[in-house]
Amino acid sequence: MTYKNFTVETDAEGIALITWDMPDKSMNVFTMEVMDEIEAIVDATVADAAVKGVVFASGKSQFSGGADITMLNAISRAMEEGRAADPAAATRRLFDAAGRMSWLWRKVETNGKPWVAAINGTCMGGATELAMSCHARVASNSKSVKIALPEVKIGIFPGAGGTQRMPRLINTQDALQIMTTGQDLSASRAKALGLLTEVVEPDNLIPAAKELLRKGVDPVAPWDKKGFKAPGGAMWTPQNVQLFSAANAILRRETNMNYPGAHAILKCVYEGLQLPFDTALKVEQRYFTQILQSTEAQMMVRSLFVSMQELGKGARRPAGIEPTKFRKIGVIGAGFMGASIAYVTARAGIPVVLIDRDQDAADKGKAHSEELIKGGIAKGKTTKEDGDKLLSLITATPDYSALADADLVIEAVFEDRGVKKTVTEAVEAVLPESSVFASNTSTLPITGLAENSKRPGQFIGVHFFSPVDRMMLVEVILGEKTEDKAIAVALDYVAAIKKTPIVVNDTRGFYVNRCVFRYINEAYDMLSEGVPAIMIENAAKFAGMPVGPLSLNDEVAIDLSYKIMKASIADLGAASVKEHHMALVDKMVTDLGRLGRKNQKGFYDYPPKPAKKSLWPGLKDLYPQKKAEDVDFAELKQRLLVTIALEAARTVEEGIVTDPREADVGSILGFGFAPYTGGTLSYIDGMGIKTFVALCETLAAKYGDHFSPTPLLKDMAAKGETFYSRFDPYRQNRAA
Ligand code: NAD
Repeated sequence: MTYKNFTVETDAEGIALITWDMPDKSMNVFTMEVMDEIEAIVDATVADAAVKGVVFASGKSQFSGGADITMLNAISRAMEEGRAADPAAATRRLFDAAGRMSWLWRKVETNGKPWVAAINGTCMGGATELAMSCHARVASNSKSVKIALPEVKIGIFPGAGGTQRMPRLINTQDALQIMTTGQDLSASRAKALGLLTEVVEPDNLIPAAKELLRKGVDPVAPWDKKGFKAPGGAMWTPQNVQLFSAANAILRRETNMNYPGAHAILKCVYEGLQLPFDTALKVEQRYFTQILQSTEAQMMVRSLFVSMQELGKGARRPAGIEPTKFRKIGVIGAGFMGASIAYVTARAGIPVVLIDRDQDAADKGKAHSEELIKGGIAKGKTTKEDGDKLLSLITATPDYSALADADLVIEAVFEDRGVKKTVTEAVEAVLPESSVFASNTSTLPITGLAENSKRPGQFIGVHFFSPVDRMMLVEVILGEKTEDKAIAVALDYVAAIKKTPIVVNDTRGFYVNRCVFRYINEAYDMLSEGVPAIMIENAAKFAGMPVGPLSLNDEVAIDLSYKIMKASIADLGAASVKEHHMALVDKMVTDLGRLGRKNQKGFYDYPPKPAKKSLWPGLKDLYPQKKAEDVDFAELKQRLLVTIALEAARTVEEGIVTDPREADVGSILGFGFAPYTGGTLSYIDGMGIKTFVALCETLAAKYGDHFSPTPLLKDMAAKGETFYSRFDPYRQNRAA
């Protein structure tokens, strides 16, 4: 029998080596076809008397990335088809589709012959679940081995036996932690926990797996034997009663119960461990079916799995332009941002010229990379050798002639039109005609800056977020004259440094900062209404934001807000900034010298470490305070999310953001917009545009016009549309 995705070779001793190597993919993933083939292989090896045992291995450099998008699409089709006519039958179909993988792994586990998984690299989600259904697991000690059940990160949970096998293999507390955080395990950690049978040298992986079979692997799982006890003990033991009280409390603290997928993990483990294995799998399947139907799971899968992958793979890259191979990249301005941009570029293996006004300033910028590398070595994340290699790629100099063979130059000099003009001219005097010039400006429109350029078609915005080495998003901004070639080069660069791009049209604040400042402005409104600051910050966290608006304002600096407001008034008139916002910021900056974290005093006080920051008590004296019981906390949460989502909707209406995937992914990666919503526009789509419009109207009546629903939203509500139907990102593909 031959298979498309597998080869099966049985040796003289009766060990069948199954090698998974999908011909058209760089990474093995589960598709419907792969599952069908695995099922056929199980049947064939069971039927073949010559086969005594099976080794399941990968023919690629990694083991498997888990489920493919097409699998999830098949599941969601099962969910939608015929639902209107017969909802019960549709749910039944979903239940069956959701259980397909789970029961297949159960078939592997109970096939009667021993299977050993040989894990050579990344092993994610469904692949880890398959490995756990094998009767033994060997992994190589290579650094590339990462074992995880990361489903919770996209709103679902390990629903193919993961929640049942893991706490039967390792202790309950570790299993809960691993599944509710989705963390990666190295081979040695997985072995120490009891998840792996053996860890061996990479060259010895298959021989070691075969050797285990020769020595004898029990083909019956421990939990299928009488008297089995989970390593963490029975659920009713005092230690587990304590564990689950704590686990529920921790889950509440970490997620504010915004993530049904994470909560379902606790339920599956708690209920499943009290049941025989097959019944436990059925309970898991039921919860999985329920979670798949939740708005949170649907929105998170779409934004954090599908859209993120599509944008990362260049969904917005113009067609027909050769991929760029970067020989050299220039970074001008070796300050806070430029130094970090040089670091992430060199980390991607690309030579960088880092330029500042003099050698000292340029060297200082390069020293930032040295610091990051030192930190990485101390944490065991990098080696001295790799660090030295990275540093050798960065040339720090004040000499612009070093840019003569650069493919792309990114300026990150002072936020000053005059300085940017001087730098643009100096760069273009030496830069090849065909190369691209990018600005990392955070506030100056790209079209205006492009006027300083002799070739505005090659001029583009490449907007990083701080801290650059950790923030995954890059906003690519198109000036009026930016040409496709510049977009392609910018997107190739973002892909090379392994970040996710969104492409937006030019506007003041671009996409991310427009949204962020709405968030901060709403907090200013709340403060001036007398809402206690702690309630504002907590409402944000309960709504799912990673950082409260006042804390965020301290990070970006209150004097920066002040500058931006003044620039807005100068360019757009006094009405563009609310008077009480200006009064608050003016008081903080001018009267009180409270600039934010940078001078250790802003909305918070920042005492020397190890003391923690705390809200500045003086805030209470700025406005007459409301009593906590007179504040509608649920409404605070809504206001913070709605004001951001509404701004995102405006950017779509204005043609700034053209693809809803970018608004969603940009909002989650750019400022952590409540990830369980799937992002700003999915938040609106998720509750339904009609409901959102009604909510905006209620808030507008109470808190002002900035909550008024826009004409686009009203039109969409009337027509029963969603952002993903009206601005369907797949329209072209569907038409083709
Ligand atoms: P910074 O002051 O830390 O660094 C600016 C650097 O530019 C300094 O090292 C300075 O010596 C150098 N410089 C000034 N004039 C120069 C010239 N003529 N030639 C060469 N070098 C010159 O500022 P920053 O925070 O890194 O910001 C830089 C740019 O990045 C700004 O446009 C800013 O809006 C943008 N930005 C900043 C952030 C942020 O969080 N700070 C985020 C995104 C974008």
